[in-house]
Amino acid sequence: DEVRVKTALLSVSDKTGIIELARALHGKGVRLVSTGGTHKAISAAGLPVSDVSELTGFPEIMDGRVKTLHPNVHGGLLAIRDDQEHAAAMSAHGIVAIDLAVINLYPFEEVRAEGGDYPTTVENIDIGGPAMIRASAKNHAYVTIVTDPADYPLLLEEIADGATRYAFRQKMAAKAYARTAAYDAAISNWFAEVLDVPMPRHRVIGGVLREEMRYGENPHQKAGFYITGEKRPGVATATLLQGKQLSYNNINDTDAAYELVAEFLPEKAPACAIIKHANPCGVAAAATLAEAYRRALACDSTSAFGGIIALNQELDAETAEEIVKLFTEVIIAPSVSDEARAIVARKPNLRLLAAGGLPDPRAPGLSAKTVAGGMLVQTRDHGMVEDLELKVVTKRAPTAQELEDMKFAFKVAKHVKSNAVVYAKDGQTAGIGAGQMSRVDSARIAAIKAEEAAKALGLAEPLTRGSAVASEAFLPFADGLLSAIAAGATAVIQPGGSMRDDEVIAAANEHNVAMVFTGMRHFRH
Ligand code: 5GP
Repeated sequence: DEVRVKTALLSVSDKTGIIELARALHGKGVRLVSTGGTHKAISAAGLPVSDVSELTGFPEIMDGRVKTLHPNVHGGLLAIRDDQEHAAAMSAHGIVAIDLAVINLYPFEEVRAEGGDYPTTVENIDIGGPAMIRASAKNHAYVTIVTDPADYPLLLEEIADGATRYAFRQKMAAKAYARTAAYDAAISNWFAEVLDVPMPRHRVIGGVLREEMRYGENPHQKAGFYITGEKRPGVATATLLQGKQLSYNNINDTDAAYELVAEFLPEKAPACAIIKHANPCGVAAAATLAEAYRRALACDSTSAFGGIIALNQELDAETAEEIVKLFTEVIIAPSVSDEARAIVARKPNLRLLAAGGLPDPRAPGLSAKTVAGGMLVQTRDHGMVEDLELKVVTKRAPTAQELEDMKFAFKVAKHVKSNAVVYAKDGQTAGIGAGQMSRVDSARIAAIKAEEAAKALGLAEPLTRGSAVASEAFLPFADGLLSAIAAGATAVIQPGGSMRDDEVIAAANEHNVAMVFTGMRHFRH
């Protein structure tokens, strides 16, 4: 299964490491062939290299749109070396066998990420490159294909004796098809964005493996982090300033935390969300970021231990001092001040992420989950309570403060696993009930948590007294409402639309509770 490498074709847009590779290949007696720019770079380094037009007898034309799309190149890549007819075709047409192809593509993804204009982005769709990559990979019985500069050291190790082995060529072929598939996925996703096609008919759902994690949700599961290239600041784009690699659960929780805190516009108030197991255990907005953190923590300081903290503005020194008092897994913020960074450095294991910006909660996008034998894809839940027409359905209208707290609670409820019941007061969560199969249980649990928090803080009564309560889906019966009223809620926000809305409204009126309907549901499973 050994193939001696006699001729290599090098055609790369990203010229990282290509001179060193070319020099090493030349040192092994490999004949080098290259396209225009790559040829220039290699010959400028003083290495012998022939131009691909010598192979094709045809010049590069149309600004490089047609360089290698020629039977002499593709015949050289695709020929079955020990097939008589193939060999005859090669000698009849003067086709030289190409044993190694080193190719990386026009930087379509980078140009797209940098927001290149339409014609520039289109021009950066590589045609000949993917064709050669796919041809080489198909013929991996004979040809080695390398598409990633990070693999040059592996290649050099493999061909130390001047040959490659089947196992290596096969592995590189698999990687090559992953590359061309991801490349076309990026192109289709760009078109979907341009054409504003929200659903996947015109796009490929997929991504590129960025890193493998040590394990998945549990230690016996394998896991990887795939990057879709969506332009959304968050855990996928953030820079890890300190701490170990993020685990599968860290990434999942950090995403939940950051998406939640981004609902609170930084120009309105500093906000903080603390997440455990993808559910918030405390959220608050306040005059300062440190105060927001303290208030978020107060909601459920027991659960916050080992949590994920997300902030909607730069992490400052005062907040960092507060945070390092407790064991925390991850902090994510748009940016981190130098002072804050030095403070967090005292806890070297604490993972600190700077996301570079906040995601736009209103921006479109997709979310996906797998089911047996398939994948469910939907547009992101980008509904915002600010954009909804709130309908007061009770005799009593909410006060200005109640209305603020209602909106706050509803925003948080959107990010709590269903069934979600969230109490809020004065810009902070007072109690959160998550993930119960019955809405009444969620309401009860939230009230119990609020009582525990009051005890922990030495308060005379739980924060749910005089609070607003949100339910992410309609209250099907009056019982959930009555349980919230028992906990002290004076205002209720919910989508409405139940068959028994009248019953629920009557119960609210009976207790002089103000209730609004949003008309929008925020299930989250
Ligand atoms: P160079 O910098 O060597 O002139 O160009 C290298 C780039 O051209 C590589 O990214 C390679 O994938 C791409 N390429 C090679 N052949 C062709 C072709 O025939 N058409 C197009 N559009 N791109 C090609």
